[in-house]
Amino acid sequence: MQRQLVKIGSTMDVRYGTPAAVYKELFAEYKIEKVFTNHDYEPYAKKRDREVNEILRLRNIPFHTYKDQVIFEKGEIVKDDLNPYTVFTPYSRRWKSLLNDFYLRSYPDKKYYSNFYKQAAKEIPSLRSMNFKTTDEYFPSKSWEKETIKKYDEQRNFPFIEGTSRLSVHLRFGTISIRELAREAGGLNETYLNELIWRDFYQMILWHFPHVESRSFKPEYDKIKWRNREKEFEAWCEGQTGYPIVDAGMRQLNTTGYMHNRVRMVVASFLTKHLLIDWRWGEAYFAKKLLDYDLAANNGGWQWAAGSGCDAAPYFRIFNPDLQTKKFDSHLKYIRKWVPEFEELTYVKPIVEHESARKRCLEAYSAALKK
Ligand SMILES: Cc1cc2nc3c(=O)[nH]c(=O)nc-3n(C[C@H](O)[C@H](O)[C@H](O)COP(=O)(O)OP(=O)(O)OC[C@H]3O[C@@H](n4cnc5c(N)ncnc54)[C@H](O)[C@@H]3O)c2cc1C
Repeated sequence: MQRQLVKIGSTMDVRYGTPAAVYKELFAEYKIEKVFTNHDYEPYAKKRDREVNEILRLRNIPFHTYKDQVIFEKGEIVKDDLNPYTVFTPYSRRWKSLLNDFYLRSYPDKKYYSNFYKQAAKEIPSLRSMNFKTTDEYFPSKSWEKETIKKYDEQRNFPFIEGTSRLSVHLRFGTISIRELAREAGGLNETYLNELIWRDFYQMILWHFPHVESRSFKPEYDKIKWRNREKEFEAWCEGQTGYPIVDAGMRQLNTTGYMHNRVRMVVASFLTKHLLIDWRWGEAYFAKKLLDYDLAANNGGWQWAAGSGCDAAPYFRIFNPDLQTKKFDSHLKYIRKWVPEFEELTYVKPIVEHESARKRCLEAYSAALKK
């Protein structure tokens, strides 16, 4: 962006600080007539934007905000009675019925180039100056293969295959356009389009039900008596539970900042159900480690796995890690890659026994939900 702007005699002006402090500087240096920004649905961002709005209002500066990072937002997809959807399938049906070219069109940009404020190029503060450290983690490219998307529904569940688009980091940071992707890739495979709709769905849930940030979507699930054993949590984080598929997923996460979606579901279920550890602990660990960390999708995924979320898996459906392995990694290619020692005597013993952990989970959940 900076290169494009400099070419036309303009520049980005990137500042690092709180909105109040940065606006003070900007008011001193520029004559600001209007401010434009895009919507963000996270509770922190909503609070920040309210503050900015107030700063601007005191100076009578109009604040214009727009939808950008989703196809449909806020109250655009609602039920006939105007209440938000809380179940995915009817939401996605309505989403698809309202979709037309207007929502998929890229926003015009070139025709506004001449409006950019002309001034000498400014230096962008380095990430190091904001206390970020360099990493050698792999960042997937933002180009995607037509063939991968065409075969998405057949391949997406197998963690050893490169069968998904790997665009989550780009979608999360806005380095790829959701409209362009839905238009070009969404048309190639219905299942792929559905995943992009899940993304909109969880953003919409977070907008309408901000309590999910810290509490269960369904309040009765906050009564579950979690065991929360710190040692077991540590073993899970480190990929040392003795369940190869779980350990493979956690080691992939710790090494690369990414985990395949199928395995995210398995490890999240294992933590909340087999170990009876509060989903918020797992959610926070993912937030720390995932390069594609996104509050709405992560929270939605965790609450889905714990059974506490909207449209979640029923709590009595507990993933059996061995069956998941048989179904989705039958040749053990993914496991061999991340847990090479899993057939050796040195490999840790299973931290819990599946059947008894399952029984213990069902008891804890039904006791909480009966109350
Ligand atoms: C416990 C748990 C935590 C998760 N945390 C995150 C997270 O922090 N950030 C995140 O982007 N996704 C999260 N997901 C959803 C999903 O696992 C990732 O989006 C996906 O694995 C990213 O890989 P990809 O880009 O190859 O996805 P693809 O399969 O190629 O899907 C394309 C895009 O659709 C969106 N998408 C796919 N599945 C979902 C979903 N279930 N919910 C919402 N959006 C989806 C993503 O933007 C993704 O990039 C989580 C899922 C679970 C079960």
